[in-house]
Amino acid sequence: MQFIVVRYAEIALKGGNRDWFEKMLINNIRKHLKKIGWTRVTKIHGRIMVEVEGEQDRISEIMRNIPGIANFSYATSCDHNMETIGKAGVELLKTYFEQNNKSSISFRVYAKRSSKDFPMNSPKLAGELGGMMLDQFPQLQVQLKNPELTLGIEIWHNERSIVYLEKIQGMGGLPVGSSGNVISFLSGGIDSPVASCMMMRRGCKTIFLNFHSYPFIGEQSREKVIDLVTHLSRYQPKTTLIIAPFTKIQKAIKDNCREKYRTILYRRMMYLIAERIIGRYRVSAYVTGEAVGQVASQTLKNLACTEAAASLPVLRPLIGMDKSDIIERAKEIGTYPISIQPFPDCCTVFQPKKPETQGKLELVVGEEERFDFESLIDEAVENLEIITMESSIQEKFWD
Ligand code: ATP
Ligand code: MG
Repeated sequence: MQFIVVRYAEIALKGGNRDWFEKMLINNIRKHLKKIGWTRVTKIHGRIMVEVEGEQDRISEIMRNIPGIANFSYATSCDHNMETIGKAGVELLKTYFEQNNKSSISFRVYAKRSSKDFPMNSPKLAGELGGMMLDQFPQLQVQLKNPELTLGIEIWHNERSIVYLEKIQGMGGLPVGSSGNVISFLSGGIDSPVASCMMMRRGCKTIFLNFHSYPFIGEQSREKVIDLVTHLSRYQPKTTLIIAPFTKIQKAIKDNCREKYRTILYRRMMYLIAERIIGRYRVSAYVTGEAVGQVASQTLKNLACTEAAASLPVLRPLIGMDKSDIIERAKEIGTYPISIQPFPDCCTVFQPKKPETQGKLELVVGEEERFDFESLIDEAVENLEIITMESSIQEKFWD
């Protein structure tokens, strides 16, 4: 049985809503861990405590990817007896030195006493426990500022205390769901998975929407998008991917509209399809992977033309980032190797040779009037492919 103490950062700042945020995080942790085995997640003493049966590496990998968790520690639950507390500390350090072969390491004890029933104050307790550890482990060198190793002891009420060793860094942010629902426009590229991850980290439950132009782009592009979404599914308990057929719309645009407007029109049609889905998923905003000036369709003028088709705010978390920074982020979150697989996106179909970079809304709308897009949108919405998946981290991470 693993016993884990979870710490959260920003939720603590949420004043009157704190309870609501905490409940959401507790629920999410429960759902993320349930596939591991028996799990209990409770709030004790202003902390979230997790009890779970399972392998530590696997649990850590899942916990590190749950938005809202600042950090967490594997802990031992004790009573208020100094001897039991000392024993717990020794056990933790013994395991640490078994796993890390070190002849010398800087060390301190961090003590927090919330129950005044305990006879020692925090500095005294830290000194006492530190002394017990130094007696047993000659490798430890006391260093109060920035030590490599901190043994934590928290004295709670009702004869309870916890002892823990390492703080494992979580991803921070807010629990998914606490900021509402968004639709993220996901191509198979590098940018949109990064944008999606950033918004999940800010508490947005993310529904992924991809546009696919079969047979102009093949099955492999579809598989690539499914792979990306599967990878991103680690950040939220449940994930929905919607794949919308886009072939007929692209063909109609090619056959009826001026070539240089194609990409802008594709984008506007994407929003118009998305507009039909927002009610079903109670969506409050869209997310895209756009950054100013990255490609012709992302000039300020063209962004204005495309988002005019949307009734909801369009969130663009990458808007001011350089491609090289986005690539770094994609590598960090692990989507990069999937994104660079060379399978095309629908936007490459009938790509204009000289795309418009200074789109004017009235001219773009004029182009749209040249074909019956409403019936094509109806048809696309009737033929959506919807894939749902539980949160998952592929086995390769620990096999
Ligand atoms: P990406 O931004 O995905 O890495 P990219 O920069 O080549 O690839 P663009 O063609 O510039 O992508 O598209 C900009 C944004 O439009 C994407 O970030 C994505 O949010 C959205 N988008 C593009 N193609 C699609 C698609 N086939 N399905 C859903 N959204 C798309
Ligand atoms: Mg891009």
